[in-house]
Amino acid sequence: MVGSLSNRIVVLCSILCLMLAVLAGLLLDGSAQMRGSLTWVTHSAQVLKTANRALGHLQQAESGQRGFVLTRDPEFGKAVAAEIAASKRDAAELVRLTADNPAQSERSRQIRMLIEDRGAHLAESAELTRAGDFAGAQALTASGRGRNLMVLVEARVGDLLNEERALSVSRMAAVERRLNYIRWLVMIGTPLAVVAIALMAAALIRRIRRPVDAMMTVMGQLGAGDRSARIDAVMESSEFERLAGGYNAMAEELQAAVADQVVSEERLRLANLELSTNADVLRERGEVIELLGGMAHRMQAARTDEELASIIRVFVPRVLPEIPGALYAHNNSRNLLVPIAAWAGIEVETAGFAPDQCWALRRGQSHFVVEPGSDIVCAHVGAEADHYHCEPLLAGGEVIGVLYLRGVVGAENRFRLTVLTENIASALVNHRLQRGLREQTIRDPLTGLFNRRYMEETLALEIARATRTGSPLSVVMCDVDHFKRFNDEFGHEAGDAVLQAVAAEMRSRFRDGDLVCRFGGEEFTIIAPGSSAGVLAKRVEAVRQAISELMVSQGGRTLGSTTMSFGIATWEESMERDGSTLVKAADAALYRAKRDGRNRVVLDARAEALAA
Ligand code: GH3
Ligand code: MG
Ligand code: MG
Repeated sequence: MVGSLSNRIVVLCSILCLMLAVLAGLLLDGSAQMRGSLTWVTHSAQVLKTANRALGHLQQAESGQRGFVLTRDPEFGKAVAAEIAASKRDAAELVRLTADNPAQSERSRQIRMLIEDRGAHLAESAELTRAGDFAGAQALTASGRGRNLMVLVEARVGDLLNEERALSVSRMAAVERRLNYIRWLVMIGTPLAVVAIALMAAALIRRIRRPVDAMMTVMGQLGAGDRSARIDAVMESSEFERLAGGYNAMAEELQAAVADQVVSEERLRLANLELSTNADVLRERGEVIELLGGMAHRMQAARTDEELASIIRVFVPRVLPEIPGALYAHNNSRNLLVPIAAWAGIEVETAGFAPDQCWALRRGQSHFVVEPGSDIVCAHVGAEADHYHCEPLLAGGEVIGVLYLRGVVGAENRFRLTVLTENIASALVNHRLQRGLREQTIRDPLTGLFNRRYMEETLALEIARATRTGSPLSVVMCDVDHFKRFNDEFGHEAGDAVLQAVAAEMRSRFRDGDLVCRFGGEEFTIIAPGSSAGVLAKRVEAVRQAISELMVSQGGRTLGSTTMSFGIATWEESMERDGSTLVKAADAALYRAKRDGRNRVVLDARAEALAA
């Protein structure tokens, strides 16, 4: 148990005060004793002085009496009386002064009695003198009694003086001793007090400095970053122990707080890391989505399957770099997966494969082999494939195709693959829908030929091209001869069958570059880019011939044969650029063919002139 510093200070101060009080007491006592001794010395001096004075007055009275007797001067008589009175007063004073000392007091009383006797003797002599009895006075003086009394007085006074001087010397010695005593007290007490004060101050300073140094050292360590530094030195006092305890508790709190802060900072750092990783993932996904958005936009605008394939060949390798692959889609009858596009060195069988040859299509979910023997291999891939990935294309809950990738699709590419297949699937569905809609808008549903609107649009485009390139462009207008009869004779459906048969024949007979259209009713238009009227007329003649030989049947019955009339015109710079003049010219030639007896080919007059 360590004592209290303040208690210790109180105890030390009390000891110091006690020491000083003792010293002061001793000094006071010494000075009081010295004062007493001095009083006694003064008393002795007063006794000596009074005794001498009493003797002196008596001697003066004696010599005055002698002078009075000799001179008879009354003044001497007065002086004798005054001196006797003074001597008696001093004798009485002497008795009073020596009352405390029995021996001296006795001497003093004897002196007073002798003085009174001697005084009375002198007074008697003075009285005789004053009365003029000089002889009596001289006789009294000569009697010797006065002399004897005087000798006794002097002897007694001498004794008293000797005694008093001895007393005075011893009293002076006492004063000297007291003085020395006080000097020693001062000489020893003061250094002792100084040394005691210094020792106490040193002890206190040591008890304060040691713990303060220990605390300063630990605070310095804490300041330098050592958070585990604690005050464990002996603190010497309860106050410093409390201070150290308080400091240690504070350092403990600080260390815990710093540890908490470190943990919080670590959590914050991890959260930031995760955030930045997420941000990277989001940015990358954003880029992928943007890329796929661009792909989807282009696929929407694609008119033909070939355009669609080109877009896929460009974009898929950008979304899944360095992974060769191919895209297959169901054909219309859904019994085959036909290749749409392939990229990065993949060769595909144009014939495609059956849906049950692919496990992804069978199960409607991803199927992949990441190493030889890790999973069953799809038949369309070939048994030698040791790592590949098949991802089904799903649209509206239905499998519409499969994305085949030769390689392993890592976790980092899963998102890309998912978004890619979703985009391709919806784009494929969209493309097919658009293609169907477009077919509906440009095709004539009965014959499957292009309709009149498409014919007019295409004719305007072909006129523009012919104008640009300078190549010839011809148009044929044709009409089934006496078609009304089929309707009338066999019914409207039979008429439709005739129209379908004629249309099919024309489509198979004309070149691929010639555009066969149904103009309306039983009239048709053929746009023949690059053909002059003369060359075209030969081709039309062959078609006319073939149609005239066509036997049309419907629902198991033979409807018979039919013929067609044809009018041909060729594009000229003077004609309207929308094609209306050219069509009218061909129509005029057709009219002439009808008028001239039908089942024939007639050239427009200007075309005929050119052909000739
Ligand atoms: P011409 O030799 O002068 O051309 O005589 P035509 O009978 O062929 O010509 P006309 O204009 O007199 O008759 C055409 C008929 O074709 C009238 C119409 O009812 C019929 N028709 C028009 N469109 C269709 C169709 O889509 N189906 C059927 N079955 N008949 C049609
Ligand atoms: Mg007609
Ligand atoms: Mg007709």
